[in-house]
Formats: sequence, C-alpha cells, structure tokens
Amino acid sequence: MNSSDILEILNKDELAKEDLLLLLSCYDKDERELIFEKSKAKKKHHVGDKIYLRGLIEYSNVCAKNCLYCGIRAHNHQIQRYTLTVEDVLQSAQYAYENRYASLVIQSGEVSNPHFVDTITDLLNKIHRLTNHQLRVTLSCGEQSLETYQKWHDAGAHRYLLRIESSDKSLFKSIHPQNKTHDFDIRLKALHDLKKAGYQVGSGIMIGLPGQTLEHLVNDLWFLKEFDIDMVGMGPYVEHIDTPIFERRHELISQQKRYQLSLTMMALLRILMKDINIASTTALDAIHPTGRIEALNIASNVLMPNLTPVKYLENYHLYNNKPDTFHADSLVQHIEKNATIHGSRIALGEQGDSAHYWRRKT
Ligand code: SAH
Ligand code: SF4
Repeated sequence: MNSSDILEILNKDELAKEDLLLLLSCYDKDERELIFEKSKAKKKHHVGDKIYLRGLIEYSNVCAKNCLYCGIRAHNHQIQRYTLTVEDVLQSAQYAYENRYASLVIQSGEVSNPHFVDTITDLLNKIHRLTNHQLRVTLSCGEQSLETYQKWHDAGAHRYLLRIESSDKSLFKSIHPQNKTHDFDIRLKALHDLKKAGYQVGSGIMIGLPGQTLEHLVNDLWFLKEFDIDMVGMGPYVEHIDTPIFERRHELISQQKRYQLSLTMMALLRILMKDINIASTTALDAIHPTGRIEALNIASNVLMPNLTPVKYLENYHLYNNKPDTFHADSLVQHIEKNATIHGSRIALGEQGDSAHYWRRKT
C-alpha cells in the first residue's frame, strides 16, 4: 500500500475489520511507522504520557492445568514447584509500597480448591492492612467461580487479568488439551463473571501461535473491542522446550516477525480502544532487547517490574529466555531513562486505573 492509502484508512473515525487486516499486513518500515505515529497520538490524547507501575508477584507455579504452550503446565516435571510464603508476599508488597508503585499484580498457576481461595483472600487482607489500603491489587489466578471472584473482589482485588489466549474457538482448542478444564466457553464465561463481579477486566492473546493467521488476529482485536475490555496484556508467543506445542515449532513465523506483529497489534489496539490500559509485556523482551521500551513508546502505558524473590524466578518460566536479568529497581531506572527520550514518564504514587473502566461505569 502507498502512504496516502494508509493515511486514508488511519484517518477514518471507525476502523472496520477489513481496514485492520490491511493495516496488519503492513510489514514495510515506513508503512508501520505511519501506524505507530497514529497510535502515539491517540495514546497521548487519551491516556497521556504516564507509565504506571505494577509490581509483579509470581505467587506460585503450582498449576492444575496443562495448556500446551506453557512452561509451568502440570505435566512439566522439569521444574521445581514453589509457593511463596506470606512473608515473601508481604515483603514484596512492602517494597512496592515504599517505592511508590501504588499497584501490585499477583499471578499464579491455576488452582481453585478452597485452601487456595482462602489463602488468596487472606493475602489480600494482609497486603491492604500492611500498606494502609494504598495499593491497587490485580489478580491473575486463572478461571474461578463467580463466587470466588466476588470473594476476592470484596477482599480488595479490583482488577483481574485473564487472557482469552485466542478468541477463535478452534485455534483455542488446538493449543489446549481436549477436556472440560480447558474449555473455550468456560473461559468466556469466566470473563463475563469478572465483569459481573465489578472488576476492571484485563484480557489478551498470544501473537504468533502455530496455525494463527492475520484474520485470527483481526478477530482478536475485534473481540477485545466488542467485549469492551478495560486492560490488555498481549505479547508474542515464545517457545518453551518442555511443552507439547514445541513440536510444532517449524510452523512458526520468526521471532523477529512475531515481534513486529506484536508491536503493530498493540498500536492497532490503541487506535481502536483509545483509553484502555495496555501493558508492555515481559515476553517482548524475551525476543527483542528493547521490546518493552518500544511498546511503551508506541502504544502501552503500563510496566510490570518483577518483584518475585530472586530464588524463585527460574521456576516461573512460562517460556524460554524469560528475562530475569533486571532487578525491579534497575528496570525502572532503565525504562525511566529511555522513556524520557520519547516524552513519557513513570507516574510514581499513582494507581493508574483504566480510564476506560471509569468511562464504562459512568
Ligand atoms: N495461570 C494464569 C496466569 C499465569 S499464565 C492463567 O493462565 O491465566 C499467564 C499468561 O502467560 C497466560 O495467559 C499466557 O498468555 C502466557 N503464556 C504462557 N505460556 C506462554 C508462552 N509460551 N509464550 C507466551 N506467553 C505465554
Ligand atoms: Fe497453568 Fe496458566 Fe500456564 Fe495454563 S497458562 S498451564 S493455566 S499457568
């Protein structure tokens, strides 16, 4: 496409699916630059120049599920299973509080027994007491019942991340075992339950999965828009050697292509949904040295420095080459230095709710 065709599409008030497909097919550097410029302008206008921090606590790698792509799936016996102690979690929360992150994410493998549910409830209560109710807490603990979601919301978790992974039912099927615990419709229901329980709801997908087409990705963008999602975390699919899907690695597009596609997807999402929060996901850094910085420059406004105690990090490898090298404070310094060059800044002490959520609520 020539530049004027691209600009004509980008200047439309509403993009149709066909427009998204044309834009997503742009691989040329100059073409993509036009998309990025539009996304940057939308970002500046609708969410400003702030980057919000969420301290990430990888609470436990114990998981009951067997998603075919994930390094901590139950059937991977190559890793040591761990669960943080209450003290570990509270220390990380204290760090986030003292360093004015204003927000935490607690992520873990999916477990839904009563003990796990009560432990998370208890942790939420303790975190809020310790930090004078000054931290916004996000949970990312997989599919749970509506009752559990409500219980955790009552205990002070106000945001929840649950990726749809792919909004295409048959592609979803192809990356999960065929059974009731890995069911597309149940996942969709969980997302609806999260809305019902009052959360700021986050979702997202993996980009560059085997068997995934550009049409799938356009439908994913459409899904996120139609669902009226508040926050998005999406990033490249990254191979993990000890997973079943690794056998299909010959079907994958290169990591460079996955990286480029991820940035274009994030830019299109920003253009499409304007005031949502978009995270700069860690997986970007696994396949490109400046991945997260580029995403923050182009479209995203949320960074999640890892606050998991160092001794556990090697056992939370969802994918190969997961970057652990940056300690949270050096990552924040590094991003701050680079973000300033692009006119953004880290917003310390601000919880950074999704503006979209509050607009949706009023
Ligand atoms: N158990 C929870 C949260 C932990 S997994 C859940 O599944 O929701 C968090 C996310 O990691 C998943 O949603 C998935 O999108 C991502 N992930 C897992 N394996 C991955 C891989 N190989 N490459 C990229 N992302 C991956
Ligand atoms: Fe478990 Fe989540 Fe990994 Fe699936 S993606 S195996 S639910 S940790």
